[in-house]
Amino acid sequence: MADFLVLGAGMVGVSSALALQAAGHAVTLVDRGAPGRETSFGNAGIIQAEAAEPYALPRDPLTLMRFALGRGNDVTWTAGGVAGMLPALWRYFRNSAPARHAAISRTYARLTARSTRDHAPLIAAAGLGNLITREGMGILFRDPAAYAAAVADAQRVRDAYGTRFRAVTGQDYAREDPAFLRPPAGVIHWLDSWSCAAPGDLTQGYATLFARRGGRLLTGDAASLRQEGAGWRVDTAEGPVAAEHAVIALGPWSPRLLAKFGYRIPMVCKRGYHGHFTAPRPPLRPFLDVSHGIVAAPMAGGLRLSTGAALVARDSPADPRQLERGRVGVSDLIELGPRVDEPQWSGTRPCLPDMLPLVGAAPRHPGLWMNFGHGHQGFTLGPTTAAILAQMVAGQTPEGLEALSPAQRVGR
Ligand SMILES: Cc1cc2nc3c(=O)[nH]c(=O)nc-3n(C[C@H](O)[C@H](O)[C@H](O)COP(=O)(O)OP(=O)(O)OC[C@H]3O[C@@H](n4cnc5c(N)ncnc54)[C@H](O)[C@@H]3O)c2cc1C
Repeated sequence: MADFLVLGAGMVGVSSALALQAAGHAVTLVDRGAPGRETSFGNAGIIQAEAAEPYALPRDPLTLMRFALGRGNDVTWTAGGVAGMLPALWRYFRNSAPARHAAISRTYARLTARSTRDHAPLIAAAGLGNLITREGMGILFRDPAAYAAAVADAQRVRDAYGTRFRAVTGQDYAREDPAFLRPPAGVIHWLDSWSCAAPGDLTQGYATLFARRGGRLLTGDAASLRQEGAGWRVDTAEGPVAAEHAVIALGPWSPRLLAKFGYRIPMVCKRGYHGHFTAPRPPLRPFLDVSHGIVAAPMAGGLRLSTGAALVARDSPADPRQLERGRVGVSDLIELGPRVDEPQWSGTRPCLPDMLPLVGAAPRHPGLWMNFGHGHQGFTLGPTTAAILAQMVAGQTPEGLEALSPAQRVGR
């Protein structure tokens, strides 16, 4: 019998499997598909050491009005999508109040601050350093007043958390990076973030490393998970597999499975899209064009444009408009070239209303563990919360990270 079943082979599950294995456990990793083909495949690939503060829901009336009227491209919504997530959105709104958000950020910053350090040994052991660029990321402003306000806020963030940045005038930034066709007003260049040219391949590479170190990777449906005797059992292509412990690392699919065991976990599901462009002169580093709510990241498959959040029903069809608006918006800055012909990708950021991932023991089921809900930064935080989970399994919760525990956070 394995010690651990890890369900879900995205960045979080694969990293969890590696961390538990490194702690000496026999681990079986189960996914219904190949590792790293879902959310961990299609993201913007940034290992966001700069993201000390998780995305709060805006609370000022003007921004909320802008969202409500469908202005701007960073957040879009449908009535059905919002209605379906109303209780989670309401809790998210309340947790976004300044004092509460500051407390959450103190926990969150402890995670993002160590994210590149936690990835580094895995990148090296997987032999995938060629996928990683250590150039930071740019937040690009077109409006001088918005840039000035962002510089002041970046100073606040640096003073609070030690995240390093440069404030660069648009002229200087365009001089430094010849990909830019015209200068923006200014750029906050966060210096500590890394970027990955193929996030799915890095996740797959970590899974290969896990298998090389003796781990078992099986195809199976997590929905078949059941409690049996003192342990857990799941059906796989190689027959039922039993273990003393099971870790739920199913990203946006986690609440659905946990509902079966009586856990009610509201989630704000923020859909995002990407598309690749041949871009003859890609930028030196990824950047967010704030005015158009679009991230441009140089990748192996072309320049990847990724959208912000769409609050839509989980099973609603793809709507290409947010990506298209982003493409049009950014195209005066960078020569995008033709779009790469591929099926439209979309994925869901699994955001919990208190903006923190759930990491630790399920309150009412011995041997059941949770590691999901990494929202906008799951690619960044996979190895970090995996290491914390392994510590919790060993009976220790790292100081200052008690808030990650499901104990007080999941309802019936
Ligand atoms: C557009 C976009 C851009 C983003 N950009 C960034 C970024 O730059 N940096 C960053 O850090 N984060 C980013 N994110 C967020 C990040 O991608 C996610 O937080 C992260 O990938 C979540 O990882 P995960 O392992 O929890 O989930 P997933 O990667 O979704 O993995 C879950 C796994 O569970 C499996 N699964 C589901 N149901 C079952 C079942 N019934 N049986 C078996 N297996 C099952 C799936 O096949 C999948 O492999 C972005 C997200 C989006 C959408």
